[in-house]
Amino acid sequence: MEPNALVDYVKSLDCIHCGLCLRTCPTYQLTGVESSSPRGRIYLMRAVAENKLEASDPHYREELDYCLVCRHCESVCPAGVRFGEMMETARAGAAKAAPRGALERFARWVGFQVVLPSRFWLSLSISALRFAQRTGLLRLAAKFAGARKEALLSMPAAPPASERRSLPERTPARGAQRGEVALLEGCVMPELFGRVNRASAAVLADIGYACRTARGHVCCGALHAHNGELEGARELARTTIASYERLGDAPIVVNSAGCGAHMKAYGTLLEDDPAWRERAKRFSKRVVDFSEFVAANAPADWRPHAAPGLGKLTYDDPCHLCHGQQIRSQPRELLARVSGAERVELANAESCCGSAGIYSLLRPGDSQAVFEPKARAFAASGADTLVTANPGCHLQWESGLARLGVKARVVHIAEVLAPSDPDSARANVR
Ligand code: SF4
Ligand code: SF4
Repeated sequence: MEPNALVDYVKSLDCIHCGLCLRTCPTYQLTGVESSSPRGRIYLMRAVAENKLEASDPHYREELDYCLVCRHCESVCPAGVRFGEMMETARAGAAKAAPRGALERFARWVGFQVVLPSRFWLSLSISALRFAQRTGLLRLAAKFAGARKEALLSMPAAPPASERRSLPERTPARGAQRGEVALLEGCVMPELFGRVNRASAAVLADIGYACRTARGHVCCGALHAHNGELEGARELARTTIASYERLGDAPIVVNSAGCGAHMKAYGTLLEDDPAWRERAKRFSKRVVDFSEFVAANAPADWRPHAAPGLGKLTYDDPCHLCHGQQIRSQPRELLARVSGAERVELANAESCCGSAGIYSLLRPGDSQAVFEPKARAFAASGADTLVTANPGCHLQWESGLARLGVKARVVHIAEVLAPSDPDSARANVR
């Protein structure tokens, strides 16, 4: 295969080697080694394109895998380097150049091709996980899992079946309807964070918007793309576009930062597909983050009340919201509207928490090392509750603070804003 097809050579030429990205990169902060920095990784990609380095080189592959694709480097880059897209292409190229071992390929096939796109398999997997966690089977399995022990023990706590409910096809507005939106239900969200989806629908209803869900749609393909499974990501993008076209042209509200950033980039993902290119661009224009939509559309006098027990709040920016979508002020504006809630800023709120999709499962040691400064910043903030806007970050904060013995609540911003009637997700804030 031509080396140029294994990396995004043209995009790599945008880098002017200034090094401004180095101090923001979590892996460079840990190692101080150039090849673990954005600039170093771009050098390596360029070396592959120029036939100076094999894409199968173990050091190259390790640096690709070590990257969290947090895109913090993009936010500070004066040359507009599109690092996230380059990394997706490079990971896909490395997998083509040197296929992974049979066991890893099988595990990835099960995860990416069987479980994530299927509501049935997702639900069965989470039920099995809950059974293993409740009976102690998971702890037992971890004892024999060798290097995978940490990964098994850092699996998220599976909620009871009563929490794992799908949203109704349509949630009416409260009072006079001001408009209608589509709400992305997501793949793992109904299984792990059904209460967040219900809170999101309740907030939208509270500000006068009916919301619809695309029945039968499961996964947007974000995890596939971030992990170099680009063909799977394109297939799921086509399915997602078709599912939401059936709901008309209403805005598509997304309460998961990683999914929103990915869906806003469908136009790029499908730019080489003439049959879908224009549909993808139209679709992406409809995608709007939950905070972005609520901040822009809530009535000026809308003032949600703080739920009891949340205490002092602090907000941590999910990477794919601040770096991927440039959304920083809206969540803070919304939290400032909550009456009865005190909010403090978190130091380095824009730095990665180490979740990075499935990175925390694939590389638990590195993920925890990236998280530790975040936990220290949280402890120093004096906050009681950490507010986030992405399921991966939510899980990372919950498990990371528990592991370090820090007592705190972790909630999605929708749970803070939801009305407090008994049917709303606010009743489920833990
Ligand atoms: S995406 Fe994040 S981890 Fe990867 S090179 Fe950029 S700053 Fe570093
Ligand atoms: S900030 Fe941008 S241009 Fe400068 S070294 Fe990093 S990636 Fe290259």
